Amino acid sequence: MKTLLKKLYNTNSLDRDEMLYLLDHMDEDTQELLYFYADAAKVENYGKAVYLRGLIEFSNYCKNTCMYCGIRGENAAIRRYRLTNAQIMECCAVGDRLGLKTFVLQSGEDDFYTDDILVDIIRQIKECFPYCAVTLSIGERSYMSYKRFFEAGADRFLLRHETASGELYKKLHPGMSFENRQRCLSDLKEIGYQVGAGFIVGLPGQDNKTLVEDLLYLKGLQPHMVGIGPLVIHPQTPLRKYKGGGLEKTLICLALTRLLLPEVLLPSTTALSVTDEEGMQKALKAGANVIMPNITHDFAREMYELYKGKSGMTVDIEKIAEEVEKAGCHIDMSRGDHRSWKRKACVI
Ligand code: SAH
Repeated sequence: MKTLLKKLYNTNSLDRDEMLYLLDHMDEDTQELLYFYADAAKVENYGKAVYLRGLIEFSNYCKNTCMYCGIRGENAAIRRYRLTNAQIMECCAVGDRLGLKTFVLQSGEDDFYTDDILVDIIRQIKECFPYCAVTLSIGERSYMSYKRFFEAGADRFLLRHETASGELYKKLHPGMSFENRQRCLSDLKEIGYQVGAGFIVGLPGQDNKTLVEDLLYLKGLQPHMVGIGPLVIHPQTPLRKYKGGGLEKTLICLALTRLLLPEVLLPSTTALSVTDEEGMQKALKAGANVIMPNITHDFAREMYELYKGKSGMTVDIEKIAEEVEKAGCHIDMSRGDHRSWKRKACVI
């Protein structure tokens, strides 16, 4: 196990069998060594800096029906909302006052927001806060739409691949296509975004073999960011009877991702903090270096329940800073771009 970890740290790669062996035989000592190497790889690339992203959940309407997600289109029991451009700008102003330099615009897949509307809001944000990065997390669109958003000034795009197992993907995402999701990710990379992929840990039907596929998929895609979080059960979804969790497995996957992609920007996800009070600290010690405080209007936050307990998470930067320091890190208020990313010049 030690030799495998050392090889992973030195070469940033392992083959399928080696990776599976590691996951199948992970014990406490190995975990400790894994986190040690992951932390070393992070420090070599970003020091002890932790970057902040202001999350704005601007609509909880969604045309999709992902089996695990609380805002799935078929959940008739939640109230739906959409923020206007002016309301989104208010959230950005709150974030700006806090010193945040990235705004993440996240929503369900909501066609109410046409390309024109989104281009407009991206332009407005860039005009008011030219020193800030804009990240989109709005799901699948066409190459041309993604290109227009990029040309309007969007810098980054988060689109988790959710699972690299085609079979599992199909079961959990009725009516959606695994191929199209992966097409979106490669389009986004080609256009020039900093791209974030990632997956959920603890999905029913998932095992170490499928997790190895997830990790190898990431290695092949070479995304700039990776979001990995445990499944948190939402009572109004078809997965209501399943158990969530997977904290430890999530930490292991975070650390492995840091070693496979040493320059990656790796958030300690909200789902992790919901699962364990000390989730954030644990993730920061296992290779994570990004936190995404929620700066959405309070009234909307309660309605954007992807899973139970999500809306109560803290926005208190001081409190976040305390947690970050407890993990031996410090908050860095710069934009926190990926080390090897330069914005392509583009015609607007
Ligand atoms: N519609 C956008 C944003 C989705 S919400 C898109 O398609 O990308 C952001 C992420 O939350 C999802 O990608 C999913 O991985 C995660 N998520 C949703 N429901 C969850 C749950 N019950 N437990 C854990 N993570 C969940």
